[in-house]
Amino acid sequence: MSSRNTHRRLDDELAAAAAAYQASTIIPHCPQCSNSCCRLDPLVLELEWKQVRTLWRIEEARAAFDRRLASGNGPQEIRAGNGLYYAHGKPCPAFNEAGGSCSVYGEPVKPAGCSDFPVYEDGGSIVADLRCEAVDREALVAWIGQAVGQGFRVVSHADEEFPFLVTLSLKKAKVREIRNRA
Ligand code: SF4
Ligand code: SF4
Repeated sequence: MSSRNTHRRLDDELAAAAAAYQASTIIPHCPQCSNSCCRLDPLVLELEWKQVRTLWRIEEARAAFDRRLASGNGPQEIRAGNGLYYAHGKPCPAFNEAGGSCSVYGEPVKPAGCSDFPVYEDGGSIVADLRCEAVDREALVAWIGQAVGQGFRVVSHADEEFPFLVTLSLKKAKVREIRNRA
């Protein structure tokens, strides 16, 4: 198998492991989370126009909405930029505070960033956001190690500027390490 195919397969395995961690550990905790990411504080939600229009129930055309936003009369939590919109500082309108649930769960309008948060694969590594109280760094390292097998060891390091962002990288395990684990 070519090295590109091997990398792609490893990336796929990491993405599958991240999704499985979310399903087994994160999502079950969401209904009782004490600081839901859906309150969008401190998280920022990146949105396309269609998502803004649907979630905020905007009835006017995009150009009119953009003018309103630029004049300061739009939703205060939304900023426009680079053809996208960014919501921050107020709960997402799809968030059901009482039940701790999302009213668009599983629907195409749900932003990709919501599904990725707090653990996702990125360019052959796993990124974890420790601002989510359900993430356990050591348990996640063990989970990823289990998923990729004995041929690798998982190394985690925190971002210097944003230490709540942790990257888990794979290093090829030395033969001695593999023997010690066997
Ligand atoms: S912060 Fe984590 S546990 Fe809380 S609602 Fe978001 S994903 Fe779920
Ligand atoms: S769309 Fe759903 S998951 Fe995403 S922030 Fe809003 S309520 Fe939360």
